[in-house]
Amino acid sequence: MKRIFPLIILLVSLSLIGIIVIQVSWFRSMLVVKEDQLAEKVIKAMAVTGQELMEQKGTLPSLKNRRSRPNITWPSDQLMMELMKPSTISEKFTTYEVDEKLRKNFNANGLNDTRYEFVISSDAGGFLSYDELRSRGFDRVVEDTIRNRRFVYLLQVPAGSNMEGLVPEEVMMVVVPNVKHIVFRELRWMLAGAILFTIILLAAFYVTVSALLRQKKMSEIKNDFINNMTHEFKTPLATISLAVDALRTEKVANDREKGEYFTGIIKEENKRMNKQVETILQAALMDRQEIQLNRKPVHVHAILEQVLENFDLQLQNKGGHADIQLQAKNDEIQADEVHFTNLINNLVDNAVKYSRDNLVLKINTVNTSRGIQIRIEDNGIGMTKESVKRIFEKFYRVHTGNLHNVKGFGLGLSYVKTIVDAHHGKIKVESALGKGTSFIIEMPASG
Ligand code: ADP
Repeated sequence: MKRIFPLIILLVSLSLIGIIVIQVSWFRSMLVVKEDQLAEKVIKAMAVTGQELMEQKGTLPSLKNRRSRPNITWPSDQLMMELMKPSTISEKFTTYEVDEKLRKNFNANGLNDTRYEFVISSDAGGFLSYDELRSRGFDRVVEDTIRNRRFVYLLQVPAGSNMEGLVPEEVMMVVVPNVKHIVFRELRWMLAGAILFTIILLAAFYVTVSALLRQKKMSEIKNDFINNMTHEFKTPLATISLAVDALRTEKVANDREKGEYFTGIIKEENKRMNKQVETILQAALMDRQEIQLNRKPVHVHAILEQVLENFDLQLQNKGGHADIQLQAKNDEIQADEVHFTNLINNLVDNAVKYSRDNLVLKINTVNTSRGIQIRIEDNGIGMTKESVKRIFEKFYRVHTGNLHNVKGFGLGLSYVKTIVDAHHGKIKVESALGKGTSFIIEMPASG
């Protein structure tokens, strides 16, 4: 399992990267192919248009396109020459007519949305000649050869025709602006689909990996818990076993005082085990979300005092003392007495457990707008910010080397949180490593 997990992550990551790379290169070549297809269609449309224009090229000039009306007083042979000269396309057609033909052929080739500009000129290089047809936007787009694409079509009289050599050669140039953009737009649904599915794939991968990681962590935690629990039960069982052995010896059997001492030990260990079983049962209860609150009016101050009384001895052993300031005027809340007592008990227990000598346990209460705020503060070992974030998780324990003497299941605070939530209260933690920890609970007022 340990080896398989990184292997799976590696393989899936690799194939994901592979898929993305392939998609990108596939998309790039798709762009090229689409641009070529577009170019093909443009050339086809131009060729058809060219043919149509040529069919009328070189026939007698129509007078409507002439810049100057033929002068009636011209010498007749000059007039004849003029009439005989095969006219150029630029002379025979207007810009509008050429545009109309081009548009028609563009549409026929499926280029309905494609914009274009054109020029027809006898000068293929400079486009400076006068007798040319030029669409209005042509000058704007002709310079930018990076974004726009030029297409040139030679308007040639077919070889062998009797007009060959008589008419000046003309060139039709079409510029399609923003070719890349047009091609991109055509592929946008494919691109969107590819991106969408890649994102879904990534998300699924992320969810799977995080679920696997969580599972892994859970099984580690469960192992920890079982080890911990075995240890916690083995110690009292061993002590009880030793005490029973001692009770069986003749020396002890005859000595009442000694006998009481050993039965006392057995009772104490029994209590300890009971407490642990209780903790585990609480956790099991939370797991099934079976906590049923038996709400009654409860006096917070009374419970605090009662819990603290039980810890008197432990506090003395640690050479510590409690500083209690119960300032809330109204300390009555609607709560389940047993669970609420357990809650306070767990917090005070932790404050005592995770402390050094000279423990000062500060407990105070104040009324807030919502109810009552209880603050349980210690000057113990404290926690890092990362730990604070996780202490309410079930089974979570801070792994600190010097803490091995403190036993626990990591269930106490998750229970505390569950109970506070069930009462619609709030809990907050402030902690500084080495300085101490405060738990602040706000419980809503009764009524
Ligand atoms: P447990 O005490 O059984 O380990 P808890 O859920 O009660 O489990 O506490 C979780 C962890 O939070 C503890 O292991 C401890 O590291 C840390 N912790 C709790 N209370 C305190 C405190 N008052 N000061 C420092 N650390 C604390």
